[in-house]
Amino acid sequence: MQKLSLHNTLSRKKEEFKPIIDGEVGLYTCGPTVYNFAHLGNLRTYLFEDFLKRSLFFAGYKVKHVMNITDVGHLVGDGDMGEDKLEKRSKIEKKSAWEIADFYLEAFKLDLSHLNIIFPSNWYKATETISEQIKLIEELELKGYAYRISDGIYFDTSKFKDYTKLSHQKIEDLQEGARVEKNQEKRNPTDFALWKFSPENEKRQMEWESPWGLGFPGWHIECSAMSLKGLGKQLDIHCGGVDHVNIHHTNEIAQSEAATGEKFFNYWLHGAFLIVSGGKKMAKSKDNFLTLKNALIDKNLHSLAFRLACLQAHYRKPLEYSEDMLQASNNALLAIYDKVNFLGREVAEVDNNYLQEFKSLVFDDLNLPQALAVFHKLLKDESVKKAVKLATALEMDKVLGLNLKSVIENEEDIEIPDEIEKLAKARQLSREQKDFKEADLIREEIEAKGYIIEESQQGFVIKKKR
Ligand SMILES: [Zn+2]
Repeated sequence: MQKLSLHNTLSRKKEEFKPIIDGEVGLYTCGPTVYNFAHLGNLRTYLFEDFLKRSLFFAGYKVKHVMNITDVGHLVGDGDMGEDKLEKRSKIEKKSAWEIADFYLEAFKLDLSHLNIIFPSNWYKATETISEQIKLIEELELKGYAYRISDGIYFDTSKFKDYTKLSHQKIEDLQEGARVEKNQEKRNPTDFALWKFSPENEKRQMEWESPWGLGFPGWHIECSAMSLKGLGKQLDIHCGGVDHVNIHHTNEIAQSEAATGEKFFNYWLHGAFLIVSGGKKMAKSKDNFLTLKNALIDKNLHSLAFRLACLQAHYRKPLEYSEDMLQASNNALLAIYDKVNFLGREVAEVDNNYLQEFKSLVFDDLNLPQALAVFHKLLKDESVKKAVKLATALEMDKVLGLNLKSVIENEEDIEIPDEIEKLAKARQLSREQKDFKEADLIREEIEAKGYIIEESQQGFVIKKKR
């Protein structure tokens, strides 16, 4: 196991990471609300979490990763007000809320695959963990943290000490922010719903019986229920977008610690926003709604160009989106693929100097922009043998996730025409006879026909020009 340091939102400091169980990490990342496609800002967060997970693997840890899928209870308005996002969407698309959830969950999984993001070990839907959520609310009720008002069961934030320990805000500031929603019955502006009652005049598609009446869970409770279900006491790292710090994660901590009496996650990591011109955060409700499909795939840009773009900014710093930025990343990605392609297929020992430099940056709170610079330096360094370079690049790609392996593997599947095969054999013969002039001429002919030939100790390889 190698040491790594991570910036913990709880302490606002970089800390040496120490897992609860030696060699293993319990990781929880807040997942999507499946009522629409993920936008690039969401996907940046999932990429940051994938970089983290790959870095943990790289350091030698086993990682147990749980993610929630919100398919009920996330309301349109802030602070537990307004319509359920899934039910609202279901009316717009004229499909059931269940169909909406299935459709956008599949779309989300496809996005993750396109971005070469490693899937979680477990993902739970909110609708599949209703009984766990009810049990947790019962526990809170028993311990005196829950109270009932006309539209649901709420958590009394004034009863929980250190409510703002994650956000580091003054409680007055938080309350001021929460006051705009105007639920007069709540005891404190920061209190939040644990269970909402179904409206009397309307039949909801998703609703369940509970000890408090027919209804559905509040948005925050699912993450507490699922992390405890999936990770047990292995509550090492919890991640999400920085927009979750003040409310969602703050509430997760309050309700979990109140229910269990134990610390809820030792490390909290947050990814910064993707911003569009003018410094605005990318959001579904805004007109700058960019998806992997409309911003990259439809424009013939490689999906992993977005991954490369995200590697170029530190996860705690905002990344500015522009079409030019994506185009530049796409060019840079293709250039990397070309360079790797030219390295041949032979793999030797890694270059330890480069690898150590790379690791020390990765393990320093995921300094991936600098680590990427080391990767580029390696590719350019002509003093490193091709086979060594390839081995080192592939090793680094375990963190970067640019799928360099596929560049090499796909090449082998390409059908080489007989004509080219014959020319390659003729060139080999010329080389054996030390007729290098003839060999060069044949190589030029091969290249003119769109192929590249490279000599190796085993003979030669032919590849298609990219
Ligand atoms: Zn969450």
